[in-house]
Amino acid sequence: MTDNKVALVTGASRGIGKACAIELAKSGYNVAISYAGNDEAANKTIEELNALKVKAKAYKFNVADKDACQKAVEEVINDFGKIDVLVNNAGITRDGLFLRMNSENWEAVINTNLNSAFYMTSPVIKIMMKQRSGCIVNMSSIVGIMGNAGQANYSAAKAGLIGFTKSLAKELGSRNIRVNAIAPGFIQTDMTKDLDTEKITEHIPLKRLGLPEDIAKTVKFLAEDATYITGQVIGVDGGLVI
Ligand code: NAP
Repeated sequence: MTDNKVALVTGASRGIGKACAIELAKSGYNVAISYAGNDEAANKTIEELNALKVKAKAYKFNVADKDACQKAVEEVINDFGKIDVLVNNAGITRDGLFLRMNSENWEAVINTNLNSAFYMTSPVIKIMMKQRSGCIVNMSSIVGIMGNAGQANYSAAKAGLIGFTKSLAKELGSRNIRVNAIAPGFIQTDMTKDLDTEKITEHIPLKRLGLPEDIAKTVKFLAEDATYITGQVIGVDGGLVI
């Protein structure tokens, strides 16, 4: 086993999570990635991580399943020996106006985007507390700050992650564990591929959608350089929320 730092990134077969895994690997991290079911994408990500000469392994499980999260964290510890950075990134949308929103779509989004952070972080902080160091990054969203019609479930989950981040930062600061959130704007991934990007871009001061790498560089900054930053929500949105 190498003495590289270890990052665990959920939802890293594609999109933002994949970019985070690659950016951390470029900084020398060994990387454990999680995904839900897309084996092909996960295998491709692992190939790309291996090409960066770090140790990398993919874990397929549902982040909305508490027991599966606990088991996966145990497996990561068996395989990698420690966890220095946890990125709670896996997420889904089930959009629809609230009047027509059913319980299934409400619960799927809250379980996958918010409860997952509890399920993953609970076992991981025990490890970080023993290590007396750690960095947790929760992937929130600008809609957790400003709300969005058609996304009451998603906005509630992302706002919940912000409260979770700030509270944990206060609880864990004395243990040298930093907890921050990122609030991405519109980032080019599968999640946003069906949106009318021309219309959205008009409202973005930087006049472009974000790239997964824009978020990944912020994760790397939080993990590596932001030694006196905790409890913050970093907007990475091209100036959309000012
Ligand atoms: P994406 O391209 O749709 O990728 C989602 C990732 O999460 C995939 O790796 C997927 O695995 C995994 N995943 C989904 N449900 C899961 C589950 N139940 N258990 C385990 N893994 C699961 O999404 P993205 O755009 O990169 O978004 C990543 C995060 O950023 C999300 O939390 C999202 O809410 C947030 N965000 C995105 C944007 C944006 O504009 N894209 C803006 C703000 C916030 P599979 O490949 O196996 O399906």
